[in-house]
Amino acid sequence: MSNLQLQQSTKAFSVGTVGDLTDFAGKAFIKDTLQTTGVEVSLGTLAAGEAVPFRHHHRENEEVYLLISGEGVLTLDGEDIHVASGSIVRVSPAVSRQLRNTGTSPLLHVCIQAKAGSLDHYTMNDGVLEED
Ligand code: ZN
Repeated sequence: MSNLQLQQSTKAFSVGTVGDLTDFAGKAFIKDTLQTTGVEVSLGTLAAGEAVPFRHHHRENEEVYLLISGEGVLTLDGEDIHVASGSIVRVSPAVSRQLRNTGTSPLLHVCIQAKAGSLDHYTMNDGVLEED
């Protein structure tokens, strides 16, 4: 099981590490360690043939799954979607989901979770360029 270690934290930012991603195994959520307030990010691995042991959906949060390595099937409302390194999948909150590794090597993925619709109030000008 991998642990996320907090390396530095100020009011302005938090820095953590799970170590070398090629050695990562298990599951790590960033929210509590890095004190995020608007997004949750998790890293997870599944061994060959292993599946997340439950299906789930969300009340308000959409998720984006980014496959780092390996391959598998993401079952979305009963539909099997093949995913492999480089796949990026957005899932709406109410959709039932379950990820399983159908390959022969470990599957490493990142799951980003944020409140659906929370970007609606942003314009494309949320980022503010700074000039010195
Ligand atoms: Zn979820």
